[in-house]
Amino acid sequence: MDNRFDAVIIGAGIIGSAIGCGLARRGWHTLNVDRLETAGQGSTSSSVAIVRSHYSTLEGSALAWEGTQCWEDWRGHIGTDDPAGMAEFRQTGVLVLKTDGNDNLGKQIALSDALQIPYQEWSTETIQAKLPGWKFHRFGPPVLSDDPQFGQPTGSDLNGGVFFPRAGYCNDPRLAAHNLQAAAQAAGAEFRFNSTVSAIHTRDGRTEGLDLNGSETIRTPVIVNAAGPHSAKISALAGIADSSAIKTRVIRHEYVRLTRPDSPANKGAEFVTFDNDVCSYTRPDLGGTFLSGSEGTEAEGEQTQDPDDFDRNLSDAVMEPIYRLAQRIPSLGIPNNVSGIVDLWDVSDDWIPIYDCSDLAGFYLAVGTSGNQFKTAPAVGELMAELVSACEAGHDHDRDPVQFHLQRIDRSIGLEFFSRNRKINSTSSFSVMA
Ligand SMILES: Cc1cc2nc3c(=O)[nH]c(=O)nc-3n(C[C@H](O)[C@H](O)[C@H](O)COP(=O)(O)OP(=O)(O)OC[C@H]3O[C@@H](n4cnc5c(N)ncnc54)[C@H](O)[C@@H]3O)c2cc1C
Repeated sequence: MDNRFDAVIIGAGIIGSAIGCGLARRGWHTLNVDRLETAGQGSTSSSVAIVRSHYSTLEGSALAWEGTQCWEDWRGHIGTDDPAGMAEFRQTGVLVLKTDGNDNLGKQIALSDALQIPYQEWSTETIQAKLPGWKFHRFGPPVLSDDPQFGQPTGSDLNGGVFFPRAGYCNDPRLAAHNLQAAAQAAGAEFRFNSTVSAIHTRDGRTEGLDLNGSETIRTPVIVNAAGPHSAKISALAGIADSSAIKTRVIRHEYVRLTRPDSPANKGAEFVTFDNDVCSYTRPDLGGTFLSGSEGTEAEGEQTQDPDDFDRNLSDAVMEPIYRLAQRIPSLGIPNNVSGIVDLWDVSDDWIPIYDCSDLAGFYLAVGTSGNQFKTAPAVGELMAELVSACEAGHDHDRDPVQFHLQRIDRSIGLEFFSRNRKINSTSSFSVMA
C-alpha cells in the first residue's frame, strides 16, 4: 500500500470530510483518518444540524449563508451518488424571537440586509396566530428553576420576531458526512477508519508524517487537524498545544426529544425556533416530536470535559431548558422521563472557529467549531482547501491574510477573521449563536 499522501486530514466528521473533498477536488491526493468506524460518527452524529444564517458578525453570517446554499443544492454539491443514501435539507424556516438579550435582533437584521439574506419581521400577533399555544411574556434573563424569580414575568410582552424562510435543518448529519466522503472519494480521496493518530512527526520545523494505532507510519507534508473535541489533543501531539492566542475548551451539550402537545390547535412550531428570552431552542423532528436544548445561560454555567472521559447520560440539568420552554408553551407539560443526546462542543474563546495555518509549517487548524459549524461545513471544506493551497504555494497568510471568495453569495471574506492569533472578537455573542 502507498503510504504517502499530499495531505492527511485527521478526522472524518462533517468538517474533516468536507476538507478532504475540497482538497481532492483541487487534485490533492488526500487521506482522511478517523479513530471511529464511519464518517460523521463523532460529535457530528449528535448534531441538531440546524442551518441558519443569523450570526453576530458579517463573516460568520456570510459563511453560514454560503453554507445554506450548499444545503439547498445538496445533491448538486455532492455531485455523485452515495450508495448509503443522501441526507436531506428540510427547509422549514427558522423563527428567532426578538429579546432584550439579542437587542431585538438589530445586528442580525442589518447583516441580513448587507448579505441579502431574506427574512420577514413578524409581530407578536402574527406569531401568536401561527403558535396559538405560546405565551409571549418576558421572562429573561433566565434563572434556575429553584430561584424564587423563576416563572415570574420580568416585563411587558416580547416584540415579535424575525423569520428566515431559507433556513432549516439537515435530517441526518452523519449521513451528510458520509455524502461528503463519497464526494471526496469520487475525486480520488482515500479514507481510513478505526485508525487512531498516535504520533505526529516533524523535521526542520515542518510536518513529515504521522503514526496510526501506534504502529503504521504515513508520510505527508501537510496535516489538517479536524479532530473536533479532540483537536487540542492532536495539536499537543504536533507540539503546538499552547502556541495560539485563541484557546479552545471542550464543553458538554445535552438536548432532549419531546412530544408535541396533543391539542390539534396547539401542535407547536413546524419550523425551528430560537428564544433567547428563555434560552431554549426547538427543532421539529419525526413522529410528532421535536428536539430542544439550552442556548446556554449564565445561571447554568458550562461543564468542561475530557473528550476521552465524559458521561453520555443526560444530567438533571437537562430539565432546566424544558422548564423554561414550558413558560413559553404552558401546554407542553413536564415529562417524567426524557430521552436525548449528550455530546461535546469544541469551543473557542469567542465561539468563532479557528480556520488557519499554525506555528508548525504544514500543520493546519480547523478547530474550535463551538457548537455552530455543522451548517458551514460544505463551505469550510472549500475555504480550507483555498487556505492550504495558498500557504503551500508559499503565501504568508499570517502577514498577508488570504481572501476567500464565497462563490454562491459572490462575496469575499478575509480569513484573518478565523485566525488563531486574532484578538478575541468582542462583537461575538459569546454563545453557541456566535
Ligand atoms: C449536540 C450538538 C448539537 C449541535 N447542533 C448544531 C446545530 O444545530 N447547527 C450547527 O451548525 N452546528 C451544530 N453543532 C456543531 C457541529 O455539529 C460541529 O461543529 C461539527 O459537527 C464538528 O464537526 P467536526 O468534523 O469538526 O468534529 P467531529 O464530528 O467530532 O469529528 C472529529 C473526528 O475526529 C476523530 N478523531 C479524534 N481524535 C482522533 C485521533 N487521534 N485519530 C483519528 N481520528 C480522531 C473523531 O473520531 C471524530 O470522528 C452541534 C454539535 C453538537 C455536539
